[in-house]
Amino acid sequence: MLGNLFIITAASGAGKTSLVRELLAADQQIKLSVSYTTRKPRPGEVDGEHYHFVDEAVFLRMLGEAEFLESAHVHSARYGTSQKRVEAVLQQGDDLILEIDWQGAEQVRRIYPQAISIFILPPSIEALEKRLHGRGQDSNEVIAKRLAAARDEMSHVVEFDYVTINDIFELALEDLRAIIRTQRLKRDKQLRRHETLINTLL
Ligand code: 5GP
Repeated sequence: MLGNLFIITAASGAGKTSLVRELLAADQQIKLSVSYTTRKPRPGEVDGEHYHFVDEAVFLRMLGEAEFLESAHVHSARYGTSQKRVEAVLQQGDDLILEIDWQGAEQVRRIYPQAISIFILPPSIEALEKRLHGRGQDSNEVIAKRLAAARDEMSHVVEFDYVTINDIFELALEDLRAIIRTQRLKRDKQLRRHETLINTLL
């Protein structure tokens, strides 16, 4: 595969979505995989942009037809990544980000062992709680559930290649950019990318 595959995972409230949005805005060579989900859109979420919002029947049909590279149940909804989209982007030579949970990360690693996985941690449990409240869109019960789920998600940090702490947004963004840049500079990628130059040099 020509492009790099990045898996970005975090407990909800760690700021993953904002970091990824910022990354994409400044880098045309990296794309985002828009997941399929059975959960309902939150206010402001756009179908096809934040997620492909589908019902249970459509999701199960896609699952049955092996259209997902990975899929998981998270917070009582189903989520899945389109295999076709992943292949298309990587074949084109662009890099791709999968914003998925630890279960998805585990499945993707089995299929693409060369995938680079990054875990984003919050700077403290208090900060995480505050960010979960800050959304103002979910009830206390939902927040308590998400906090418990966050701890569970974070227990999988040891399975990831890279870890960044999102305390200062700009610094976490720099970390992500550094990880991406490093992968792009790997010898095999560089030799392929600059084949013509290399041929004239050697
Ligand atoms: P949310 O519903 O808050 O956008 O996302 C909830 C969780 O689902 C997050 O941890 C997110 O990373 C995860 N998620 C989103 N899309 C996918 C996907 O396609 N596959 C998997 N396994 N997890 C996903």
